[in-house]
Amino acid sequence: MSEIRYRLPQKREIVTEFPGPRSQELSQRRTSVIAAGVASSVPVYAADVDGGVVVDVDGNSLIDFGSGIAVTTVGGSAPKVVEKVKDSVEHFTHTCFMVTPYEGYVEVAERLAEITPGDHAKKVALFNSGAEAVENAVKIARVATGRDAIVVFDHAYHGRTNVTMAMTAKNMPYKNGFGPFAPEIYRVPMSYPFRDPEGMSGPEAAKRALEMVDKQIGAANVAAVVIEPIQGEGGFIVPADGFLPALAEWCTDNGALFIADEVQSGVARTGEWFAVEHEGVIPDLITVAKGVAGGMPLSAVVGRAELLDAVHGGGLGGTYGGNPVACAAAIGALDTIEEWDLKSRAKHIEAVTHASLDSLVDGTEVVGEIRGRGAMIALEFVQPGTREPNPELAKAVAAECLARGVIILTCGTHGNIVRLLPPLTITDELLREGLEILSDAIVKHGK
Ligand SMILES: *Cc1c(COP(=O)(O)O)cnc(C)c1O
Repeated sequence: MSEIRYRLPQKREIVTEFPGPRSQELSQRRTSVIAAGVASSVPVYAADVDGGVVVDVDGNSLIDFGSGIAVTTVGGSAPKVVEKVKDSVEHFTHTCFMVTPYEGYVEVAERLAEITPGDHAKKVALFNSGAEAVENAVKIARVATGRDAIVVFDHAYHGRTNVTMAMTAKNMPYKNGFGPFAPEIYRVPMSYPFRDPEGMSGPEAAKRALEMVDKQIGAANVAAVVIEPIQGEGGFIVPADGFLPALAEWCTDNGALFIADEVQSGVARTGEWFAVEHEGVIPDLITVAKGVAGGMPLSAVVGRAELLDAVHGGGLGGTYGGNPVACAAAIGALDTIEEWDLKSRAKHIEAVTHASLDSLVDGTEVVGEIRGRGAMIALEFVQPGTREPNPELAKAVAAECLARGVIILTCGTHGNIVRLLPPLTITDELLREGLEILSDAIVKHGK
């Protein structure tokens, strides 16, 4: 184990009016050339990223509570990632694994087979994005089972391609006008302890969902149940204990696959390699992306060998899938997580976050719940003293934090959730400073 190293000063500092003149200039250029459909949550342009800070083009140094949506888990320019990428890119940028294979792809596959839950024989296929991994997991499940139906959940987010849009729950902004959507995707209720009937257990919530599957689809038609063990975009919803095991058991009993979409929750984010480990569940297939390659585009489907091998030769792949530079970055990122013991850091971040924010639940009338695991924690905002969603407050809090130099993302079906996804390399000082600013913003706007 070694000390976390930093290249940039780990401090928050606003040195210009905000956003600064360079960022404003870039915003203007952007407006005339970038499609309006591509939005950004923060109007400052990045210049340099390391550890827990994002330095913008005007020299402002912001605290990063977003990690580019749970991607730069090891920081935005972790030394080992940079070193591996440089070394790789000097030799070749691409050959296509389907044409001339290379070692990095094989090594990443070996590493992923090792760190995913279960000691059964596993196989791996690499892709570029989370959506591509989910879509390929669906392809594999259909071939391996000979069935069509895919079961997904309320509040689910699985991506922006046609199949994964169909699997995603939220209309705006992800689906509106983009149909028709892929068929044979069925949505059932999620376990959502904050909004379920008081005291509903995980197994009871699973029964509610599975009765619907039995009645409306028929168990024998189900190829796979696909679930985020902690839902990401949907609001960091952690299902009640026993929900995931009950679903997994139903899958085993009925010849369907249990697929964990760990694109956001995976790769040390929650304090374990994968979030299903908190519930002792061993998925048939796991999708991996975001945090796996230190910011380079790489994703994977990892799972039971016989399932991945059910697909005919040439049935899986893609021109860029498992790009050599991205694979080198993944090896650097996985090494970094081990060398800097970042799984423990995630647990520590969880403890610091709760110590700093828990009093808001009783101390204000607008924080309904603080939930999550590891460095994947969210606050659900409600109208004072009720459970009615309060998206205006989430927006106001995120804006106030940004104005004070803290990048914070919102999420949730109702947009009423603020989520914390700091890099696991953030210092305690920056973490506490950012949480204090967040806390102040909630008190100020939550009146
Ligand atoms: C982000 C995300 C995806 C989609 O990943 P992309 O790389 O954006 O395609 C899929 N599933 C989950 C759970 C995600 O959080």
